[in-house]
Amino acid sequence: MKKNIPLLRSWQTIAAAMLLILVTSARINAQNTLTKANIQKVLDDAYNKFKDLQEGKNADYIKELASVDPKIFGIALITTDGQVYTEGDIQSMVSIQSVSKVFTMAKEIEDLGPQAIQDKIGVDATGMRFNSIVAVELQKGKEINPLVNPGAIAASSLIAGADSAAKWKSIVDIQSAFAGRQLSLNWPVYVSEAGDNLRNQAIAHLLYAYGRMYFDPVQATDIYTKQCALNVSAKDLAEMAATLANGGVNPVTKKTVVSPKTVMYTLPVMATAGLYDDSGIWLFNSGLPAKSGVGGGLLAVCPGKFGIAVVSPPLDAAGNSVKAQKVIQYVVEQLQVNPYWVQPKQ
Ligand code: GLN
Repeated sequence: MKKNIPLLRSWQTIAAAMLLILVTSARINAQNTLTKANIQKVLDDAYNKFKDLQEGKNADYIKELASVDPKIFGIALITTDGQVYTEGDIQSMVSIQSVSKVFTMAKEIEDLGPQAIQDKIGVDATGMRFNSIVAVELQKGKEINPLVNPGAIAASSLIAGADSAAKWKSIVDIQSAFAGRQLSLNWPVYVSEAGDNLRNQAIAHLLYAYGRMYFDPVQATDIYTKQCALNVSAKDLAEMAATLANGGVNPVTKKTVVSPKTVMYTLPVMATAGLYDDSGIWLFNSGLPAKSGVGGGLLAVCPGKFGIAVVSPPLDAAGNSVKAQKVIQYVVEQLQVNPYWVQPKQ
């Protein structure tokens, strides 16, 4: 009997040690979902899970967008150490549309400082549709938010450059630096919207009347329309998001695009207004700052970890890509990267 006691003790010790190893490895696993194999698996699963989803409809108020292939479906994720993961169609280009608003705003925060953007444009969410005129009228041109049309047209008027050509160059340069390659214009989309953007012109003139335009309203609207017509793939958008996730340094080109401080002021505006009047629903379900566009692109930023983007043109009623929202929410959940999801300390 006596002999059995040390034996029992040693079994207890081994059992306790094994339990400790199990608990520790479970905690490590919970934290380390961002392995190469797991990221690729989650993107593959997301693609297969949602590829046949039929919901939503291409934007058609810009005529050219109605004829974009609704089956385009690409996913890209780029980590802050520059690893690129893709799934589906990452060759097809769509017009960037409202996603571009983030990067023009970031350039202005970089050049003029956050206070100037708060004072001259405003950073509160309007809570209204992206092209709401009522939102402008209610606030007499204040609090028009750079991530919806009124604030974005004001941002085009405010961008660095003495004339229209110089302002356009500032915009193309910053959007391209974020994307890591020279972006080019989708002429049919630009021409289509430029011939039909009376509502945006009305917004620009109303802002002008309230003293909230910083350049000629007709030219500012034109620059804004061109900016929205830049062509991007899912991979371009993911690289733009990854640059924000990486404190303003593009993790693929390694070039500094904006400062960490600019990123710090950019992400909260995305979190509160990135998906127009559905921004709250988006944040509730994903926890990540993001931005959508009516071309079907949607990007999200997981600070310090990665940028992710999806291109799929069919939109919901608020103007956000249906598949893109579902994919990103699924990926966030599977990779356990919602920043508000915290494992309690034991
Ligand atoms: N160019 C589009 C517009 O001004 C952009 C809108 C969007 O993507 N929500 O209406």
